[in-house]
Amino acid sequence: MLGDRQVRMLELLDKQVSSCRKCKLCHNGTAIPIWTKRSKYVMIGEAPGFNEVRKQTPFVGKAGEILRTAMGELGFDSRDFLIINSVQCRPVIENRNGKPTERQLEKCQDYVRKYIKVVDPEKILCLGNYSKYIFNGTTTGILRQRGKFTDYLLEGGREYPVLFTVHPAYCIYQDEGIPLLKEDLQLFKDTKFERQSEWLFTEDEFKI
Ligand code: URA
Repeated sequence: MLGDRQVRMLELLDKQVSSCRKCKLCHNGTAIPIWTKRSKYVMIGEAPGFNEVRKQTPFVGKAGEILRTAMGELGFDSRDFLIINSVQCRPVIENRNGKPTERQLEKCQDYVRKYIKVVDPEKILCLGNYSKYIFNGTTTGILRQRGKFTDYLLEGGREYPVLFTVHPAYCIYQDEGIPLLKEDLQLFKDTKFERQSEWLFTEDEFKI
């Protein structure tokens, strides 16, 4: 369970995200990360789309439905996750959902990093190419990199076991998508890690 100090920091981060003006994506709407006091894992998606910014919540559209169905079938409890995107606001191209640019990703990584630091998760699941950016600075190659845990050092923090998998939106168009997603979710569920106990953040880090 998260402690009072962690909850306070997450609430502060939520406020900072909802009023962020670091890049022009803020004009398109924002989805605030989801978390509960039980959050002990982190899941990173790509970017909110039309439905997500309407409800200000990640993964409430078609991709979210695929993800939640797969997780439900494998016996996950979504309350165990903090769910965040690699950018918190909606990229738009020609009135449709778009992809974040590297500059936009870069601007938002500080938030992603801070949310991870506060929850200090046992393990992290990254969905799709853009979610990998914070760990290995790339936005391609998910199919080659998926399917195994790798330890990544979070800048200014500690090392976390991270599993990359396909984005649920990939499953809409590719038959192999759902089996790959489920295989990786099963691996995520079955692989246990020791949680490290010492705190790594100070409240000063969260002042802006
Ligand atoms: N796809 C994502 O990566 N994130 C969302 O919040 C919705 C769809």
